[in-house]
Amino acid sequence: MKIDILIKGGKTVDKHIIDIAILEGKIIEVANHIDDSKYQASQIIELDGETFISAGWIDIHTHCYERLEIYKDYPDEVGIKSGVTTVVDTGTTGALDIDKFYKDTKKYKTNVYALINIAKQGITSQDELSNMMSIDEDKLKDAVKRYKDFIVGIKARMSKSVVISNGIEPLKLAKRIKKELNLPMMVHFGSSPPTIEDILGYMEKGDILTHIYNGKPNGILKGNKVKAEIIEAKERGIILDVGHGTESFSMDVAMKAKDAGLFPDTISTDIYIKNRINGPVYSLSTTMEKFIYMGYSLEDIINKVTKNPANAINLKNKGLIKIGYDADLTIFDVVNEEKELQDSLNKSVITNTSIKPKAVVINGEYLNIC
Ligand SMILES: [Zn+2]
Repeated sequence: MKIDILIKGGKTVDKHIIDIAILEGKIIEVANHIDDSKYQASQIIELDGETFISAGWIDIHTHCYERLEIYKDYPDEVGIKSGVTTVVDTGTTGALDIDKFYKDTKKYKTNVYALINIAKQGITSQDELSNMMSIDEDKLKDAVKRYKDFIVGIKARMSKSVVISNGIEPLKLAKRIKKELNLPMMVHFGSSPPTIEDILGYMEKGDILTHIYNGKPNGILKGNKVKAEIIEAKERGIILDVGHGTESFSMDVAMKAKDAGLFPDTISTDIYIKNRINGPVYSLSTTMEKFIYMGYSLEDIINKVTKNPANAINLKNKGLIKIGYDADLTIFDVVNEEKELQDSLNKSVITNTSIKPKAVVINGEYLNIC
């Protein structure tokens, strides 16, 4: 039987050595050993048993709409070039720009999905929800209908800087709309009002709270303890997302939360051109390195950038190395070397473990990235 790619000798994060056969963009066999004679592979990739392979990484919080100045970037820059095979743009565009954004994404190899901003104009300014007229329910619902396979949820940015004097009102509306659409919503929080406690009152199972380690007065901690509302939200099935960002990742908050037994479900960057080039974000792998530094296991971290985000936005064929799943894979090294890592509050630490993406398989195509 002819196949496109046979990958040999990849190490999984749970320390198995596997071979993977790929045909027409799908994984057709995974085994500890696949004999060379079993398939006629157009391409054979020999790994050395030391190089890691995982399902393709998914960054569930990015900004990659190239036509918008404030938060622009390009899907392949935040995607495959850093080992990320799937990116989710979270609210850069709303109903007015989603057609252009969808069209743009087709120029790139990276898989792109969108959480559509409830404000029709997207993030054309920082205060997109300061006028309730920005939420055009009909336009929003029409957009979701047009792009059922592209729009995987809605985004509401619920900090004072965005809603100005509208408080919790945009979220009330967002909750009703997302229930009607049967989609999850991602909610950003930061400056208050509204407070995190108020916001969580309108979130339910399957919704995603992003920027959990923000380090602002309106955060997840009270002193050194995690607020009861956050623990209860996690128990209710609300997904806790990192959303590192320029201003939303405090290493101290993340460490205190870990010490208190609160862990994120998904690790994401909130990356765009400025915090990608100038830091402190740089890439998803840099964000993952911060979790290694904090003592999370590599296996746990990989789950938080593969399986967990795929489940959160209902990507049925992604997130696992499994027969029938999309042939999206990330090949990477974990090396011992000193590296400085910065959080969003100018705190830096020195780690001795770094993650280096080397290649991806995306939709059945092998691409070297280093
Ligand atoms: Zn964001």
